[in-house]
Amino acid sequence: MPTSRKALVVGLGIAGLATAARLHEIGWTPVVVERTPQRRTGGYFVGLFPRGAQAAEELGVLATMHLRTPADHRTWAVDANGARVRSIGFLDQPGHPDGVLRGDIEAALWEKIEGRVEVRFGTEPVAIEQTTGTARVTLRDNASGATSEEDYDLVVGADGLRSTVRRLVFGPHERFMRSMHAIICAYSLEHQVTGYGDHEQVVIAAPRRALWIFPFRDHPPTALFTYRTREEDRQFRGDHADVLAGRFAGLDAGGIVTQALADLRRAPQALFDSVHQVRMPRWHRDRVVLIGDAAWCMTLFSGMGASSGMIGAVALGDALAGSPESIGSALDAYEQEMRPLIRKHQALAYVKAQLFVPSNRAVALLRAALLKIVSRRRLHAWIGQPS
Ligand SMILES: Cc1cc2nc3c(=O)[nH]c(=O)nc-3n(C[C@H](O)[C@H](O)[C@H](O)COP(=O)(O)OP(=O)(O)OC[C@H]3O[C@@H](n4cnc5c(N)ncnc54)[C@H](O)[C@@H]3O)c2cc1C
Repeated sequence: MPTSRKALVVGLGIAGLATAARLHEIGWTPVVVERTPQRRTGGYFVGLFPRGAQAAEELGVLATMHLRTPADHRTWAVDANGARVRSIGFLDQPGHPDGVLRGDIEAALWEKIEGRVEVRFGTEPVAIEQTTGTARVTLRDNASGATSEEDYDLVVGADGLRSTVRRLVFGPHERFMRSMHAIICAYSLEHQVTGYGDHEQVVIAAPRRALWIFPFRDHPPTALFTYRTREEDRQFRGDHADVLAGRFAGLDAGGIVTQALADLRRAPQALFDSVHQVRMPRWHRDRVVLIGDAAWCMTLFSGMGASSGMIGAVALGDALAGSPESIGSALDAYEQEMRPLIRKHQALAYVKAQLFVPSNRAVALLRAALLKIVSRRRLHAWIGQPS
């Protein structure tokens, strides 16, 4: 394979970082452009499932990744009045995911490419034109407003849910983004809520609204507010904490919600967004390919977005290395490899969403009953274990 093949990777999130690392490893020359002026850090709780951990291992970053699952973690289900019962939580799912911050995965991948791959901050594509044998990209430097044209063998859109590459090459967002009619707000708490230990997960799940507090071994917990609504646009009018305070009225759970909202008012990096899946019939067109949330956003409810970004990067790298003469065949192979996994987890996300935030009272009751049975079984199995 010619060693001079150049790829433009748009976006420095998990998918973009992982893609740059893999392309560099197989002998390509990736150039990464990132819209923001600097690399982000921190973020929210992410569960890293075994398939994602395996991809991280294949990318050579698992060993350096900061895993933060608390030893002896436990979960409490808390009702509107603050009464608690033992339950099972995110980290108890089959496969026992590791708890990390999104920034932990990004930091490990960044370490892998830093100094080896060219990264340009404050830069984004404004036009992509495909001619035979090349993709011509117009890039804009956001600080100066200056634009320049550059030719690439491949353009990888790893620019997230509202991908510019997808819009420029495949069509408007509305064609591919499917609303799950839910809002999320994720951020780091200043410290654990009163009455709970650093290793304890707190879940307040009522019909159509829920608050999850995820513990870490060596970091304050992160909070995830989520609620269901069909009036997504209206949720962005006004202060996020005020909107949440209105939505969670009557569900204070013994002061936990008030405390979490007080932290939100001081949180510098809170994420407040509507929840959408991205469904596309194809992820590539000629020399432009999408990966991660840009291609298949499965939503936080799937718990597989970060993992699938890394799995996709490995698959894309393998496909390009395995088909050095034809980028088209490589991209077909990449799609074929990834489709079954994405299809499965996009479907599962709707089921798992009911565990995060039940869509009505009947589902909430069913959910609570199921969790009670499962957590009792787990407790019995644990008590019955030889010490
Ligand atoms: C609250 C929450 C909890 C989650 N929990 C889990 C979990 O438990 N397990 C899991 O696996 N996943 C989880 N996810 C999903 C996971 O975080 C995402 O799927 C993953 O981080 C997406 O990575 P990405 O690189 O595809 O996109 P992004 O993280 O969106 O990164 C895109 C990057 O592209 C940049 N960019 C955007 N537009 C442009 C442009 N025009 N030009 C240049 N750069 C641009 C952005 O600034 C950003 O740096 C969760 C998500 C949320 C919100």
